[in-house]
Amino acid sequence: MDAAKADAGLIQSRYRLTRQRAAVLRVLQADGGHLDAEEIHERAKEELSSLGLATIYRTLDLLRELGLVQMVQYPNAAARYEARLDKHHHLLCTRCHELSDVEAPHLDELVGQIAAGVGFEPRDFKLQVSGLCRRCRNDRG
Ligand SMILES: [Zn+2]
Ligand SMILES: [Zn+2]
Repeated sequence: MDAAKADAGLIQSRYRLTRQRAAVLRVLQADGGHLDAEEIHERAKEELSSLGLATIYRTLDLLRELGLVQMVQYPNAAARYEARLDKHHHLLCTRCHELSDVEAPHLDELVGQIAAGVGFEPRDFKLQVSGLCRRCRNDRG
């Protein structure tokens, strides 16, 4: 392969990558919530029909490395992704699997105090609460 062809191939693959990234980001930004890779795949396919699920995973990893999406991972649950980037915490309903954002600014101070009590300097933490949402609590029983 000569140099010109190699360049063209590189530009083409970069362009493809950029389109994939843009498509995945648009899906997450349009939704405004938390989606797993399969949900992102379903919606991104509407824009880029050639997108495979493996590519979605790779693209999500890359977007995370670039700091453009956040991942929320609860034990025994599919990872969810969001375009929201500021620090916040999550509530997961174990019945309907709704994942919602919650703010808890006073927690920083509390965690700082607890950590300082054992001589630890915290850099980061995220609260992930699981339980029942209001709707599921109401139609229980
Ligand atoms: Zn629920
Ligand atoms: Zn969130």
